[in-house]
Amino acid sequence: MSNAVAQSRSLHDLSFAEMQQRLADDGLNSIHARALWRSLHGHADTLEIMPGNFLRPLQQWLERHLYADDAEFFVDVLETVSETQSSDGMTRKFLLKLRDGRTIETVLMGYDGRFTACVSTQVGCAMGCVFCATGQMGFTRHLRPGEIIAQVLHVQRVLRQHHHTRLRNLVLMGMGEPLHNYDAVMKALATIADVRGPSLSKNRITISTVGLVPAMRRMADEGCPYNLALSLHGADDAQRQALIPVGKKWAMDELIEACRHYDRTIGKRIFIEWTLIAGKNDSAEIAHQLVGLLHGINVHINLIPLNPTAGYAGSATAHQASLAFQRILRDAGYPVTFRQRRGIDVAAGCGQLKAQHAASA
Ligand code: SAH
Ligand code: SF4
Repeated sequence: MSNAVAQSRSLHDLSFAEMQQRLADDGLNSIHARALWRSLHGHADTLEIMPGNFLRPLQQWLERHLYADDAEFFVDVLETVSETQSSDGMTRKFLLKLRDGRTIETVLMGYDGRFTACVSTQVGCAMGCVFCATGQMGFTRHLRPGEIIAQVLHVQRVLRQHHHTRLRNLVLMGMGEPLHNYDAVMKALATIADVRGPSLSKNRITISTVGLVPAMRRMADEGCPYNLALSLHGADDAQRQALIPVGKKWAMDELIEACRHYDRTIGKRIFIEWTLIAGKNDSAEIAHQLVGLLHGINVHINLIPLNPTAGYAGSATAHQASLAFQRILRDAGYPVTFRQRRGIDVAAGCGQLKAQHAASA
């Protein structure tokens, strides 16, 4: 492999401004930048299958910088290793291969003709939550912006081909902790929300975090336009730390203060994720504790029945006890919903995602 190829970069990693600048450096004006950007992020399938579709100067630039053997750039197109559909046909899970042979999972869920994609932000995860399959596999590496964007482009293609529709919602709840990969995630989302590209509404993009306090404060201070979901799972330090090792890094007080800061600064409702685990965090007493903890913060609570994973012996809270837990929160005035259990039969539910195939590189 030549040096040039070893150092080649993804065109999908570039922001529009970076792409425009790169082309301008080679004497190409912004008409070409817009055409290339549309082709990379818009409705064209992939650049590789449509050479010849561009004006001559851009075509020549691509021949030199993309199509040549030792080209400076490549495009992020993810190869499908396998695809599984849930028995109700409403959830599809894709095992997708990255350029280094590692694999990630992306999930597409449909409810009433509206589709939500759940994308990964890392290969594995460093946070080690005991009940999560991704946490159980450990951390391998961050994804680049282009690898996050490519998952959205992948599901967009599937939706166009099979459902003649577009993606509506995006949740960063696949493999990995998005705020541990902050810069790449924010860069990817800016492209995904770009009106010249995938054009997803910022209001329909949700970042789910295990609670990295400095990054949550940064989101607030930067006026982050996306929704925030916090995986809380415990109402005090001891409960939380037993499930989430990273909880030891920031005390509950700091975490709640970060939520208040976000609330004061951004003013958008925070989604609180609570995985219900029998005997761990599902008692009436804990529900009352949670009511007190969240007092005065604008939240919507999502209860998630625990999904089974190989590395954790805990079980989901029984139905009646889940309803009792919900009732206490509702009586205190909080909006509370159950996360619909989707894709459990194909291990595409929350926390069940892991790379099942060994990396080939
Ligand atoms: N790392 C981020 C986003 C990915 S996990 C985070 O932790 O928020 C997405 C959601 O799935 C989180 O709320 C997480 O707590 C939940 N989850 C993980 N494992 C689960 C399991 N086995 N059953 C149910 N929910 C789980
Ligand atoms: Fe990582 Fe989220 Fe899984 Fe925890 S729940 S290990 S933060 S992916």
